[in-house]
Amino acid sequence: MIGIFYLTPTLMIPYGQQTLNAPDIKAVLAVLRSDFITQGPKIAAFEQALAKYCAAKYAVVCSNGTAALHLAYLAAGLKTADQVITAPNTFVATSNMLLALGAKPIFCDIRLDTYNIDENKIEKLINQNTKAIVPVHFAGQPAVMDKIHTIARRHQLIIIEDASHALGAKFKNSKIGDCRYSDMAILSFHPVKPITTAEGGAILTNSKKYYQKLILFRNHGIHKNKQGKNVMTELGYNYRLTDIAAALGISQLKKLDKFIKARRQVVNWYGQELKNVKEIILPQELKDNYSGWHIYVIRTQNAKLRDKLMVYLKCNGVGVNFHYPAVYSHPYYRRHGFKNISLRNEEIYQQTCLTLPCYPKLTHQQVKFISRQIKKFYD
Ligand SMILES: *Cc1c(COP(=O)(O)O)cnc(C)c1O
Repeated sequence: MIGIFYLTPTLMIPYGQQTLNAPDIKAVLAVLRSDFITQGPKIAAFEQALAKYCAAKYAVVCSNGTAALHLAYLAAGLKTADQVITAPNTFVATSNMLLALGAKPIFCDIRLDTYNIDENKIEKLINQNTKAIVPVHFAGQPAVMDKIHTIARRHQLIIIEDASHALGAKFKNSKIGDCRYSDMAILSFHPVKPITTAEGGAILTNSKKYYQKLILFRNHGIHKNKQGKNVMTELGYNYRLTDIAAALGISQLKKLDKFIKARRQVVNWYGQELKNVKEIILPQELKDNYSGWHIYVIRTQNAKLRDKLMVYLKCNGVGVNFHYPAVYSHPYYRRHGFKNISLRNEEIYQQTCLTLPCYPKLTHQQVKFISRQIKKFYD
């Protein structure tokens, strides 16, 4: 009875959801009862835990993933008229924060197997104004970082990974966030992301220079000078994280590997249930990759049926979603210099993609239910 009740359309299975338990709640309550609810000891502890987990030298936590992008771009020294090559298949924040600095995103087409930036199409977009490359590890699957790294070295470009989807993922056995192939990597801890602090973000780096800048920009550009006086030397922001959130992050991080295992189990179940449905294309993981499966995106063979499938699933209790409309297709971008951009694979992708529910708590029964609805639609 409970099972049937749960699967009624009024109670939609969401596309993503946080996984919180009693130790998480206890960690948060302990901070609320302590002397510091912000700028206390949990910040440094969370940063150390993140740096250790990712095998990076430094971690800087901040108020959200968008702030992390802004901080990384500031630390990289990006400014007006600088060009930055990035993927159109991402959340708008990746390139919005470039626009915030007056820099120009240059959208590179994506691969149709991973939906990540096509590393083979990057080099021809580089010119004397190009300053950085920002790959986005879409859905938790790493971009081809060694090749991107080689290109960046050849042209002396900075690499900032938008790893919002990919904490816990690996490329060639190297943890995302270790910055082996990049200068900085940014994370988001929004509830649908691999771990959550409600709102929160972080930047990882192995560079002391970037680390110091990140710390400075996070706190108004203020630091203590040699005389012990607080002085403001850069135009910074208040992008600090609270100790409440940091405590939640520390607790969540301990469970990250379990979360990813559970997500990978969900993906296996989908594979079993849907492998014979010829009308859809299932996501694939490249041999070099260990994906964190932040989201599970299928594509319909027939673009005309995608929206119908979307409506059908929503009407039947499946909270499908759409990741993402091409960044350049948003009205703001269309009005601000991106009027005529159309990238071939990105166009195919955004007309056919559909995100199915995928998160650690999703059960085998729910995956079977969702798969059954898809099969019914095509029957
Ligand atoms: C979630 C996300 C962000 C922004 O993170 P917030 O914490 O929501 O500000 C940036 N880039 C990508 C790819 C994301 O998915």
